[in-house]
Amino acid sequence: MTEDVVIAGAGPNGLMLACELSLAGVRPTVLDRLPGRTQENRANGLVGQVVRALDRRGLYERLSGSAEPPRPSPAFVFGAMPLDLSRLDDNPVYGLPVPQRRIEQVLEERALELGVEIRRGHELTSLSQDEDGVTVEVAGPEGAYRLRTRHLVGADGGHSVTRKLCGIGFPGVTRDGSTSRGGHVTVPAELIDPVTGGLNVPGYGPIPPFMHHRTDHGLFVYAPFPTGTLVHTTEWSQDGDDQPMSLDELRRSIRRVLGADLPFGPPEGEGPHQLRRLTGGNTRLAERFRDHRVLLLGDAAHVHSAIGGPGLNLGLQDAINLGWKLASEIHGWAPPGLLDSYETERRPAAERVVMHTQAQSALIAPGPEVTALRALFGELLRDERTVKHIADMMSGADIRYDLEGTHPLTGRPAPDLVLETETGSVRLAELTRTARPLLFDLTPGAALAGALDGWHDRVDLVAAKPSREGLPTALLLRPDCYVAWASDSPTPDAKERDALRTALTSAFGAAR
Ligand SMILES: Cc1cc2nc3c(=O)[nH]c(=O)nc-3n(C[C@H](O)[C@H](O)[C@H](O)COP(=O)(O)OP(=O)(O)OC[C@H]3O[C@@H](n4cnc5c(N)ncnc54)[C@H](O)[C@@H]3O)c2cc1C
Repeated sequence: MTEDVVIAGAGPNGLMLACELSLAGVRPTVLDRLPGRTQENRANGLVGQVVRALDRRGLYERLSGSAEPPRPSPAFVFGAMPLDLSRLDDNPVYGLPVPQRRIEQVLEERALELGVEIRRGHELTSLSQDEDGVTVEVAGPEGAYRLRTRHLVGADGGHSVTRKLCGIGFPGVTRDGSTSRGGHVTVPAELIDPVTGGLNVPGYGPIPPFMHHRTDHGLFVYAPFPTGTLVHTTEWSQDGDDQPMSLDELRRSIRRVLGADLPFGPPEGEGPHQLRRLTGGNTRLAERFRDHRVLLLGDAAHVHSAIGGPGLNLGLQDAINLGWKLASEIHGWAPPGLLDSYETERRPAAERVVMHTQAQSALIAPGPEVTALRALFGELLRDERTVKHIADMMSGADIRYDLEGTHPLTGRPAPDLVLETETGSVRLAELTRTARPLLFDLTPGAALAGALDGWHDRVDLVAAKPSREGLPTALLLRPDCYVAWASDSPTPDAKERDALRTALTSAFGAAR
C-alpha cells in the first residue's frame, strides 16, 4: 500500500479535506486534472456556519485579513426577500465576501504548509476496489500510472468521474428554463446612494446592494464587492445568444428585467474579471456518499442552485466532518460505524440545502401567483420566529447530529466561549486549531481530568475557568467542533463520568 488517502480534485472541498487529514496525522495525495489552479470564479463569498468553522482552524483570519473574530451579518436575503437579522438575539448568519479563487489559494497554501502533495495535471481515469484498498489509474503529464491507496475520496465536482466509476446514481432534476448573466462592471458614482450604498437606476428607482431584486421579468443583483462591482440577472427563458457573452448582452438583459437602462462601463483594474452566461441548472443528490473504500465529497455528492450561496457552507463542512473520521479509520481507533456516520450526518444537511434552494427558486419565479406567495411570505417574515427559522436553515445552524446524550448542546456546534486559562483569556476558536478532540473541563479543580485515562493519546484536556456565569461546566468536542457530550454540573458525579466515558468511546473508540 503506497497511500493512505488519495483525493481526486483540488477544488475547495478536496483541499479542505487534505488540510483536515494532515492535521489528524494522515498525509493525503491530491490529484487534479487541471495543470494549475482554475481562473474561473464561482463563489463570491461564504455564507453561514462555515465562517465560524474556518475561524476554528485559523483560516478566517487569512481569508478576511482581520484579526477580529467573525461577526454575524445584520441582513441577508431569502428568495429575494430581505431578512432583517439585526432583530435576532442569536443571529447564526455569518458572511465572508471573498472570491472562490482566493479561498482555493489560501486552502492550497495551508495544505502545502501541512505537507500535502498536490499533483496538478493528474487526472483520475479509472478505479477498482478490493478488500484492502483501491487501485487508481491516473493520466499524468508524463503518462499513465497507477496508485494504490487505502481510501479514495472523490472531490471531483458535479460531473464526478469517481461517482460515475462507482456506479453511484445522481438523481434529481435539471431545469432548462432559465438564463443567468453576470459580469464585473463600473457604475457611474452619481448612481450610488451615499447612505445605503444602493444603486439608483434611472427610470427604475433604488435597488439595495447585495439583495436579489425580483421583477415581473426576472431577477437583478447589484453587488459592490471590495474586489469589484458585479451585476447579475436571471431570466426565465433560454433565448440566450449563441455568441460569446458580452457586456452588451448583459445590458440588454438588464433592460428586459428592469425595463430601464443601467448605464455602466467595462470593469477597471487588472482583474481577472467575470463575464458569464449560465443556462439551466441541476439539483441532484448522490444515492450514497460511500462505496466501500471510496467516499464522495462536496459537489461530487450534491449540486443545487447557487441562490443564497450555500454550496461551500455545505461542502467545506462535509470535509471537516469527514477528515477526522477517515483519519481515525486509518489510525485504527475508529469505533464501528464512525465512517458511515459521515453520510448519516451530512446527507440531512445536503437535503436541507436542496430544499431551501428549490424553495427560493420558486419564490423568485415570475407570475402573479408567485407575487401573491411573496406577499404572504412577506407577512410571515414580520414574525421574528420565522426569520430565525430561515436564518438557522440557511446558515446550517439547525443541524443537530444524532448523538447520545440529553444536554441541549449535544450534537450541536460548540458555542463561542471565552475561557480563562493559566496563560490568560482565550477564545475557544483559538484552541481548536489543532483539530484534536478536546475535553474542556471548567469544573473547579478540573474534576473530570481523570476520566480521560485511556484516551490521552487521542483527546487533549483543556482545564480552564469560564469567563462568565451560565456556561456549561464541561464540553467534549469532536475535531469538527461538534459537542459530543456536555455537563452543567460543577461537581460531576460517577454517573456523569460514566456518560463522559461512553461518549468518548462512541466518538473516539475504546480506552487503551
Ligand atoms: C456560478 C456559481 C456561483 C456560485 N456561488 C457560490 C457562492 O457564492 N457561495 C458558495 O458557497 N458556493 C457557490 N457556488 C458553489 C461552489 O462554487 C461549489 O459548491 C464548489 O466549487 C464545489 O467545490 P468542490 O471542491 O466540491 O468541486 P469543484 O470546485 O468543482 O472542484 C473539483 C475539482 O476536481 C477536479 N477534477 C475533476 N475531475 C477530475 C478527475 N477525474 N481527476 C482529478 N481531478 C478532477 C477539477 O479540475 C476541479 O479542480 C457557486 C457555483 C457556481 C457554479
